[in-house]
Amino acid sequence: MAARMDLDGRLIKPMTICMIGAGGFIGSHLCEKLMAETPHKVLALDVYNDKIKHLLEPDSLPWAGRIEFHRINIKHDSRLEGLIKMADLTINLAAICTPADYNTRPLDTIYSNFIDALPVVKYCSENNKRLIHFSTCEVYGKTIGSFLPKDSPLRKDPAYYVLKEDTSPCIFGSIEKQRWSYACAKQLIERLIYAEGVENGLDFTIVRPFNWIGPRMDFIPGIDGPSEGVPRVLACFSNNLLRREPLKLVDGGQSQRTFVYIKDAIEAVLLMIENPDRANGHIFNVGNPNNEVTVRQLAEMMTQVYTKVSGEPMLQSPSIDVSSKEFYGEGYDDSDKRIPDMTIINKQLGWNPKTSLWDLLESTLTYQHRTYAEAIKKSMAKPTAF
Ligand code: NAD
Ligand code: UDP
Repeated sequence: MAARMDLDGRLIKPMTICMIGAGGFIGSHLCEKLMAETPHKVLALDVYNDKIKHLLEPDSLPWAGRIEFHRINIKHDSRLEGLIKMADLTINLAAICTPADYNTRPLDTIYSNFIDALPVVKYCSENNKRLIHFSTCEVYGKTIGSFLPKDSPLRKDPAYYVLKEDTSPCIFGSIEKQRWSYACAKQLIERLIYAEGVENGLDFTIVRPFNWIGPRMDFIPGIDGPSEGVPRVLACFSNNLLRREPLKLVDGGQSQRTFVYIKDAIEAVLLMIENPDRANGHIFNVGNPNNEVTVRQLAEMMTQVYTKVSGEPMLQSPSIDVSSKEFYGEGYDDSDKRIPDMTIINKQLGWNPKTSLWDLLESTLTYQHRTYAEAIKKSMAKPTAF
């Protein structure tokens, strides 16, 4: 492997990374990248390892010995501090982070995103270890513009909707809207990490992902996850397309999102890992402001892309409307629009996303079709038990 240089032309020394939540969607892509392109070692912590099995076995893999899986629930495992001490850097990805859980399991959501992250921050601070913590774009909540009258021309002014790390406020709904339990817990852990940096000198970086999507995201209900489970939108729509059901548009599908390809986003994380002087003390938006769509437009584009990659004809009615109460239950609320300001990540790390929404959906839905179409056919052919 050729020697790796940082953005300032210095040689990068191989490091040991304690990655918590390494078995999830983002963790699996980060592990893959670190194994294929760097000499770094990963202590991979998670309760599951299905998404990184291909990196752990067999022993003949070129990176064998550089990745070690530790089946650990960070809620209660005394090995956590020892593993953080063994590493140069800790990356915390562990979280409950699917919106269907925020209003239906608010206690688990708050414990997972705040209480369970506390010891990780404490051990890093006490042992002078660097921490990269995964927060969320959801800490911004709603845009200022969403409170303006519908026909206000100010709604078109970026000052009222672009989300900027160091100036935008965090705007959540009322306490009954339990949707915000996640955002609020993430905001508080961000504030705690920031304070540890200011008061105790913790070297930290906070990442705010804006809808990263790609292969291995979440699960397909009834195939590799619970039949009644509700994953994030990419997996919900993939599941509908695979089963030839109409895609469900929550409250008219009017909310807007910007989607970034997981492989682009992982490049940004690698830059943070390997350029501590440029990343420490910063909060970074990581998203693709050029890939904005309403959820309705996303459904239309996914339907077209899936028709192309699967060769199956489109349904006559490709989508249906459902209310949020029906889909998510009481206490759901939504972020209206999420455009990341890219100034800070651009200046510090020179990172820019590359992949268009069409292209990232094409590779992702090709993966979904290849991975799940047969299993879905088999499961749908099974007679239902009465
Ligand atoms: P994910 O659910 O696929 O991964 C999270 C992983 O953490 C899972 O493998 C889970 O088993 C593990 N985990 C949870 N609790 C744990 C515990 N107590 N002990 C050990 N492991 C535990 O989610 P993801 O999309 O990979 O997200 C990773 C992080 O990024 C999360 O903190 C999430 O809030 C944040 N994030 C992601 C996105 C996105 O677009 N994917 C958006 C905003 C924020
Ligand atoms: N959504 C939808 N149909 C679905 C799943 C999600 O209309 O089957 C909507 C959801 O209400 C939200 C958007 O899609 O407006 C994105 O949802 P996701 O679960 O990916 O997470 P979020 O971006 O809200 O964190």
